[in-house]
Amino acid sequence: MSLLDKLDAVAAARKALLPEGVEVFGTPIEEVYSSTEARIGDHRILFLGTNNYLGLTFAQECRDAAQEAIHNEGTGTTGSRMANGSYSGHRALEREFAEFYQCGSCIVFTTGYQANLATISGLAGAGDIVLIDGDSHASIYDGCRLSGAEIIRFRHNDAADLEKRLRRLGERSRSTLIIAEGIYSMLGDRAPLADIVKVKDAYNSTLLLDEAHSLGVLGETGQGLVEETGLLDRVDFITGTFSKSLGGIGGYCVSNHPQLDQLRYVSRPYIFTASPTPATIASTRAALKLLREGVELRRQLWKNVHQLYSQLKELGYRLGPEPSPVIATILETPQQALALWKGLLEQGIYVNLVLPPATPEGNSLVRCSVSAVHTSEQMDHVGKTFAMLRETIFQ
Ligand code: PMP
Repeated sequence: MSLLDKLDAVAAARKALLPEGVEVFGTPIEEVYSSTEARIGDHRILFLGTNNYLGLTFAQECRDAAQEAIHNEGTGTTGSRMANGSYSGHRALEREFAEFYQCGSCIVFTTGYQANLATISGLAGAGDIVLIDGDSHASIYDGCRLSGAEIIRFRHNDAADLEKRLRRLGERSRSTLIIAEGIYSMLGDRAPLADIVKVKDAYNSTLLLDEAHSLGVLGETGQGLVEETGLLDRVDFITGTFSKSLGGIGGYCVSNHPQLDQLRYVSRPYIFTASPTPATIASTRAALKLLREGVELRRQLWKNVHQLYSQLKELGYRLGPEPSPVIATILETPQQALALWKGLLEQGIYVNLVLPPATPEGNSLVRCSVSAVHTSEQMDHVGKTFAMLRETIFQ
């Protein structure tokens, strides 16, 4: 099979599954009106499939800060953090993150994806072991591959399985990086952090927690699962992203280990890419301030989460194991998931369709993400639409 034949096979697989004219993936968004509303084709739609958990993409403070930064510093840095791309804003944001987590240091990266690539491949290398949750995000898998370390998976959220695998490693557990996520991106469940921390201490391993979906969402000040569980001091490295609760693009790693800083000199995804734009840094700094103070936003977010989760459960939808801003309905077949996705869009609601192999256990998901700024009218419309589709699609 030639290189191009392989891509033809991708096209054929897509055609077999998806009806002509339905742009499920990369759906064109024609206009964006607010954090929760946009236009797709001729229809005004409600966003219920973004990661805009606090709705900060339209926060006035963030937009003003971005505009001012473009005016003062231009549209891009045109260079790596290692060369000409570390402006005062980049360094200030690193200090602000370190202060937020009350820890020694922080590195800011160009995306959350690169934060994982850079951190994992900077920490682990040939001869080391990465022991990762089976449901890990693609950026974690890719970071592990880039590292050259041996990759071992433990059963999703199963600390006993993690312990068993560490025990088998014997002395090598000391050069093992364990990786888990605060909230898992597909089913919205939290890691059993207390159990994982106990196991990692017992075997003298190192723990990296990706708080991409839990930053801004969990904990009094929004630090994530580390704050909700009171285990901040017990996690070695935390990574996260600016592209969800912070409403921008970029990523970070924070740690109390002074060695974190050395990743700047060895991590290819940090060195060989341009740094975040001044506008991105400025809006993220403003957003981080709002996130820290966002107790009321989190209260509103969780009110919406509990409302939708219990409504869908009552309607008989199969859901992820616990309420969280990621609410996934689990369908039996890709066709059912597609029908639900299409039905929602026809009623003006945009959600994410996630099909195997991108899903845990090969399930087909219709993945909703709830925002603090969804109004009660919008949430009512969502509930009624899911009820209506339950009657029509699944009868
Ligand atoms: N980690 C997790 C768990 C994620 O879900 C994502 C994005 N979906 C990332 C990292 C990467 O973040 P970004 O999209 O900001 O690059």
